[in-house]
Amino acid sequence: MSDVQHFRPESVSSNAASSKPAAQPTASSKSTSTSPLIGFVSLGCPKNLVDSERILTQLRTEGYEIVPSYDNADMVIVNTCGFIDSAVQESLDAIGEALKENGKVLVTGCLGARDDEIREVHPNVLAITGPHAYEEVMSQVHEHLPKPELIPFEQLVPDTGVKLTPRHFAYLKISEGCNHRCTFCIIPSMRGDLVSRPVGSVLDEAKRLANAGVKELLVISQDTSAYGVDVKHKLGFWDGRPVKTRMLELCEALADLGVWVRLHYVYPYPSVDDVIPMMAEGKILPYLDIPFQHASKKILKLMKRPGSSERVLERVQKWREMCPDLVIRSTFIVGFPGETEEDFNELLDFLREAQLDRVGCFTYSPVEGAKANELPDPVPEEVKQERYERFMAVAQEISAAKLRARVGQEMLVLIDEVTPEGAVGRSYADAPEIDGLVYLTDETDVQPGDKVWVEIIHTDEYDLWGVRVEDDV
Ligand code: SF4
Repeated sequence: MSDVQHFRPESVSSNAASSKPAAQPTASSKSTSTSPLIGFVSLGCPKNLVDSERILTQLRTEGYEIVPSYDNADMVIVNTCGFIDSAVQESLDAIGEALKENGKVLVTGCLGARDDEIREVHPNVLAITGPHAYEEVMSQVHEHLPKPELIPFEQLVPDTGVKLTPRHFAYLKISEGCNHRCTFCIIPSMRGDLVSRPVGSVLDEAKRLANAGVKELLVISQDTSAYGVDVKHKLGFWDGRPVKTRMLELCEALADLGVWVRLHYVYPYPSVDDVIPMMAEGKILPYLDIPFQHASKKILKLMKRPGSSERVLERVQKWREMCPDLVIRSTFIVGFPGETEEDFNELLDFLREAQLDRVGCFTYSPVEGAKANELPDPVPEEVKQERYERFMAVAQEISAAKLRARVGQEMLVLIDEVTPEGAVGRSYADAPEIDGLVYLTDETDVQPGDKVWVEIIHTDEYDLWGVRVEDDV
């Protein structure tokens, strides 16, 4: 797999959802329908992908048809990302392309919160809305394309809504916004403070997905461990029983669905200790995606991030004692303003000591509107790059050694793709799009979504190769 899949700050992915119109799997480019036709471009992180799914579901519910090309669409919606400069550029380019190819373009998503910036480059877009502004997007669509007449049974939307992920895994967004104010990030100014979804509604969605054949649920938010803080962990109801709006209770209920449950964007708070026993018992996957971002106390303070490396190391050690199979993925930023060689070495020491399984790294780049832009002592580009390379060399060494130790082990693998050359899947240790893969050379007698036991026979820095030994029962 390419390196790019390993580089991701906590709130942006390697653009898993990026696509030309439309990402909707059943759409055909030559439609005979009389319904208005909409093209859809979805950019950015899994959280944005979930927003796209929600808009597409609403469009389909109202009878609009989603088409995979610009030319026969009556309008194109571009769901943008605005997290880092390269994402902003990609979003502006996508809007430009949609304008050139189609001409009628609605813009939504994170970059939509900075509409002046969009209008400066693309004054002709029809309308701009901010992130998770579903109702506004729909009212703009209605304004420019009249609501179609619904023909019963012809425009059926699946129970699970429109999904942009393959059938066997799905993102489950549990909240919007964030109460933190990390100085390098503008997400709170774009998406607002934390708003948790009602626990009953999250669990209803999870159950519908599991019933529809989803085998892996990826729990996402800006800060999963803060789930329910905004509603004081109030008691909700699901399946006739009370469930607290809190990460622990949510995980307990999700564990009952019998699918893989993987936690992303978890902060290393003491409350995380409570879910580790469930991981040790196999109720949810022993996998934690925790964006540590740095280890130097001074830099963490400048980033306005909680925690110190000693406390984090203690906690990681304790978790591993409780659950030896635990895999930890994280992301880091190198070259943050004020980072000295000493700070950077502290980070490398932390990395070696923590022995994190999956690690991504970014060189710091200023984001318009972020507080960190006011910090003194910027790190020169060539130093950032050199630190990035040193960081990744250590991370690769750790990853390669950890994967080597898996040779001879049997792992349960969820198949993602089958080609004439063989199958590709992932074990509990790897999340889709961002982590490694397990290759099953010549194995074609499986389907995406199958779970099979595999003996690991070979590894490299990021990926594993194995042979099938027995089906999951
Ligand atoms: S403010 Fe910090 S915790 Fe919140 S979304 Fe941004 S980076 Fe994540």
